[in-house]
Amino acid sequence: MSACIFCRIVAGEIPATLVFSDDSVVAFRDVNPQAPVHVLVVPRTHVDSLADLRDGATAAALLGAIRTIAEAEGLTAPARGFRVVANTGPEGGQSVDHLHFHLLGGRNLAWPPG
Ligand code: 5GP
Ligand code: ZN
Repeated sequence: MSACIFCRIVAGEIPATLVFSDDSVVAFRDVNPQAPVHVLVVPRTHVDSLADLRDGATAAALLGAIRTIAEAEGLTAPARGFRVVANTGPEGGQSVDHLHFHLLGGRNLAWPPG
């Protein structure tokens, strides 16, 4: 059994609210949401972080999934919008060492983030 939380969610060993799944990507709602829409988009295959992502097909699949989910959540409509964040490494604030993109939306997102 993997010790990685997100590998365990991908394997169905830990429950999560899935919003997207295909051959290479799984997406589920963040357990501690920072916005009305807060989805984590992860590769099925374990990759530690964005600094370790060298497979272009996986990169393309992740970005394509983000766009699909954003549309399904109503975030691509006119006057809407969303933010994508990949905290990377200790100084980047990454707390789960399985590559994930945060997809945030559903409210006005301040910049710079607080
Ligand atoms: P990071 O700080 O690594 O960029 O983001 C990790 C995210 O994973 C956090 O927003 C945290 O709330 C979320 N998270 C941690 N453990 C779980 C879990 O077991 N289930 C879900 N759905 N989200 C989790
Ligand atoms: Zn993992």
